[in-house]
Amino acid sequence: MGKTLLVALGGNALLKPGQKGTAAQHVQNVDRVAEHLANLHNRGFRLVLTHGNGPQVGNILLQQEKARDYAPPLPLHVCVAQSQGMIGSFLQEALYNKLHARGFRVPVVTVVTQVLVDRDDPAFSHPTKPVGPYYPTRDRMDPRWKVIRTVKGFRRVVPSPRPKEIVEAAEIRKISRQAIVIAAGGGGVPVVRERGLRGVDAVIDKDLTAAKLAEAVQADILAILTDVDYVYLHYKQPNQKHLEKVTLDELQKYQAAGHFPPGSMGPKVQAAIRFLQRGGGKVIITSLDRLEDAIDGEWGTVVTKNK
Ligand code: ADP
Ligand code: MG
Repeated sequence: MGKTLLVALGGNALLKPGQKGTAAQHVQNVDRVAEHLANLHNRGFRLVLTHGNGPQVGNILLQQEKARDYAPPLPLHVCVAQSQGMIGSFLQEALYNKLHARGFRVPVVTVVTQVLVDRDDPAFSHPTKPVGPYYPTRDRMDPRWKVIRTVKGFRRVVPSPRPKEIVEAAEIRKISRQAIVIAAGGGGVPVVRERGLRGVDAVIDKDLTAAKLAEAVQADILAILTDVDYVYLHYKQPNQKHLEKVTLDELQKYQAAGHFPPGSMGPKVQAAIRFLQRGGGKVIITSLDRLEDAIDGEWGTVVTKNK
């Protein structure tokens, strides 16, 4: 068996800007994802997948709100689990079709994945992550929610605690030896340890969870796919410069200089650093269409421990 490749799919690979999130749109987008992944399977890579869920969980939360007089709204962590199942099944179908068309019989499995967070994580006293629909007034919003006011209306904000441990890590690793596994979608279902496990309403950053998952499956390569081909220095400034091959030390230096904002490139760089520090071999940050070129060292930002 070849190298293990952990692919973290950004929101954009699943839904394009402006798309509302119909099933047909998802099917169309994951078809392209599956095409690339089938190429990599064909080249002998063992694949493990994870993905973001921002637009999808936003829609699920909107459905909870709009249908609340007919079906009880479910908590956010349950909505994350729903999004894992939904996106997982789109990917399973697309991968099954692409792989079977080429004569591959490898199974594709989605694992509903819980990720342990610390009840004392400082994020719980400083919720920062806006989720779900905008509300014109506060009266339909749960009084326990932390809410911010924006120009478009009121919006719920939730904590974004750091992932401590993937609860099903050992099982995911085992399955990854026999199947293409999709796990820890949307950063995972957040749980705290409190006489057992209990779901909490929070959103874990999917890039940070991806680094944990990569470690759990002993990935050789962590590929973080987003909507830009490279990581840039001086992003969107006149002196913008793309990064091709960088070392861990160089990346840490650029991080300290403030090149990577929180909430977008920041967590990807943090995930890259963490994976390499914990023994990972290589991190690629690029777009879906450039993944294969990046693996061949011809495109994208490639980070390694040493030159
Ligand atoms: P994803 O859904 O893939 O996590 P994000 O929007 O969270 O996407 O992160 C990717 C975005 O990060 C890019 O679209 C880009 O606009 C932004 N970005 C911010 N700083 C940088 C940087 N230094 N280099 C590249 N992209 C950056
Ligand atoms: Mg992001």
